Amino acid sequence: MTTLPRRYHIITFGCQMNKADSERMAGILEDMGFEWSEDPNQAGVILYNTCSIRDNAEQKVYSYLGRQAKRKHEQLDLTLIVAGCVAQQEGEALLRRVPELDLVMGPQHANRLKDLLQQVFDGNQVVATEQVHIMEDITKPQRDSTVTAWVNVIYGCNERCTYCVVPNVRGVEQSRTPFVIRTEIEELGRQGYKEVTLLGQNIDAYGRDLPGVTSEGRHQHTLTDLLYYIHDVSGIERIRFATSHPRYFTERLIKACAELPKVCEHFHIPFQSGDNEMLKRMARGYTKEKYRQIINTIREYMPDASISADAIVGFPGETEEQFENTLQLVTDIGFDLVNTAAYSPRPGTPAAVWEEQLSEEIKSDRLQRLNHLVSIKAAERSQRYMGRIEEVLVEVQNSKDKTQVMGRTSGNRLTFFAGDINELKGKLIKVKITDFRAFSLTGEAVEELVVNG
Ligand code: SF4
Repeated sequence: MTTLPRRYHIITFGCQMNKADSERMAGILEDMGFEWSEDPNQAGVILYNTCSIRDNAEQKVYSYLGRQAKRKHEQLDLTLIVAGCVAQQEGEALLRRVPELDLVMGPQHANRLKDLLQQVFDGNQVVATEQVHIMEDITKPQRDSTVTAWVNVIYGCNERCTYCVVPNVRGVEQSRTPFVIRTEIEELGRQGYKEVTLLGQNIDAYGRDLPGVTSEGRHQHTLTDLLYYIHDVSGIERIRFATSHPRYFTERLIKACAELPKVCEHFHIPFQSGDNEMLKRMARGYTKEKYRQIINTIREYMPDASISADAIVGFPGETEEQFENTLQLVTDIGFDLVNTAAYSPRPGTPAAVWEEQLSEEIKSDRLQRLNHLVSIKAAERSQRYMGRIEEVLVEVQNSKDKTQVMGRTSGNRLTFFAGDINELKGKLIKVKITDFRAFSLTGEAVEELVVNG
């Protein structure tokens, strides 16, 4: 039997938090001397970083695993790892379901991959899902982009939305200190990155687990304070953050975003439902009126700000009338983008055992109607860019048209225009918008922005 090369392959499912975790785990494997293998069948270590937000996301990993588990019978030194939210949710049960697995590790253990793999190489089958304090990562993440970077600021979530597995699988809130966050961003600036996205499941909770209270009695460290603290890092031209929570979204934060030029005027604030009874059953902790007020306040300070959100249809007990309240909110607010999903009962969540579960027919009908409305409103929002000059940070070549490059406006709108990626990558270019679709724009470069860094 041939010994497998020290090559690794990572498959990532789910959210930006998982993408950031995968980049750090890749960094650890590179640090251990492994090389990336584009083809999983040429890799000696295969890691699946999984998502459990909905059942279909969870089921995806099992089809992948099946193939490699078979291969393992031929290649005994193949190392199979399941990380992320399904690993945390299933734990030992995953080993019973897929005995070929070597390591099952929850999201809180991502930075411990080296120690855990060492235990595997010593001949153990390892399950790491106990709640731990997340240690700072010392290795250099293998980032997908050289232009824009994810920066975790808070892990976990203390909320208890009745449909959500995140608190069960990602644990309690753990904020990184402002100093280590700034240090990471300074390093990114030195490496030539132009944009950072601060990440947290509930980013508005940033800092409330860190010590320190101001004389006014509020937490010393908040997202607003963090934005002021990192704003002058040299080399970084754009700062984004996600995901916000309407329950904790403050006017103080909105003011800061309006004041700080590098903070992009794009807010991702999930509303989930436009009906107060549903919001109460979801335990979201705000009303549709409070949500509208937040959007109105944002638009008072930044009239052209982009607003995106998440919405769930078919939550247990949702009536046609309550669903129409969601449609009404989408109509009234005019979102640039809404990520939509049909309710999916998740293990260990309160709503999963409620009686009033709706049929798949009703859920998919409502999802279709909501998606239709979301596209119409998004196209209306895209139209406002027509004829305008927008600053676009160039990220990649357009995979469908090699004569074009792709980037995003400050408002996070995908924008395509003619250009050479080798010349324009990582540059801020002024683009005149000449055409629009629901979720993207097309334009012509008019000028390169000179940034003083
Ligand atoms: S805020 Fe609610 S929906 Fe978001 S991660 Fe926390 S529990 Fe889940």
